[in-house]
Amino acid sequence: MSSGGGQRQSSGVALVARDIHKRFGQLEVLKGVSVEAQKGEVISILGSSGSGKSTFLRCINFLETPDSGYVEVQGIGLNAPVSFAREESAKIIMLRRRTGFVFQSFNLWSHMTVLQNVIEGPVHVLGRPTGEARERGRALLDRVGLIDKQDDYPAFLSGGQQQRVAIARALAMEPAVLLFDEPTSALDPELVGEVLRVMRGLAHEGRTMIVVTHEMSFARDVSSRILFLHKGQVEREGTPSEVFRRGESARFDQFLSNSAH
Ligand code: ADP
Ligand code: MG
Repeated sequence: MSSGGGQRQSSGVALVARDIHKRFGQLEVLKGVSVEAQKGEVISILGSSGSGKSTFLRCINFLETPDSGYVEVQGIGLNAPVSFAREESAKIIMLRRRTGFVFQSFNLWSHMTVLQNVIEGPVHVLGRPTGEARERGRALLDRVGLIDKQDDYPAFLSGGQQQRVAIARALAMEPAVLLFDEPTSALDPELVGEVLRVMRGLAHEGRTMIVVTHEMSFARDVSSRILFLHKGQVEREGTPSEVFRRGESARFDQFLSNSAH
């Protein structure tokens, strides 16, 4: 089924986003975008700048509120528009807890050490005991190769190291789905590999991931499916070998030519 590497088991749906619409004033950014991810799937979202990739990802966990559509993560479903009544606000919080978001610009807390960044959510949001959270936080830092940096502040880390801390921080919340918004785009080229390596490892572990990326080799080798967005709509969708077939979509071929460095 999946053409990418890794032993995945599809045992149910992890995430559904159905017919998501979003406009900012006059600008219709998403014109009915849908995706469904089985547990353990890695879905890459490609598209040129401004095609709506970030907005779509942010709509999945209600960092942006969709104008209409339906989102479900691990059994918690919500229809837009939302009224923000108490019950719906509670659902948004539950949805967010089931998703881990990794931003292009890391967004670590600069006044906290690396380990504090990782355990902040588990302790203050999930209510985990500090000792347990620290132990698990260290294991996650070890997992991303940064255990020796646990007491450093983010400013002393390279961009690649900061992004790996951000990934550990997302994992610490035990999310059902990881959302990545161009996680390597802010990095110097020589630091991209260390972050992609961690992401490949997560994919092989069977994590469910939605990844907005310009890294074509990652999309091709690691994804089970690819979505290509063009002006707020899904222009192409399928396995990497289906989507990367030339001569079927002039828009995608053009996009690929522009992405080749
Ligand atoms: P991508 O991630 O594919 O580059 P975005 O989802 O960031 O695209 O943006 C899609 C379009 O929506 C762009 O034209 C962008 O300027 C616009 N946009 C994004 N966020 C906002 C916002 N908060 N307010 C107004 N326009 C926005
Ligand atoms: Mg973007």
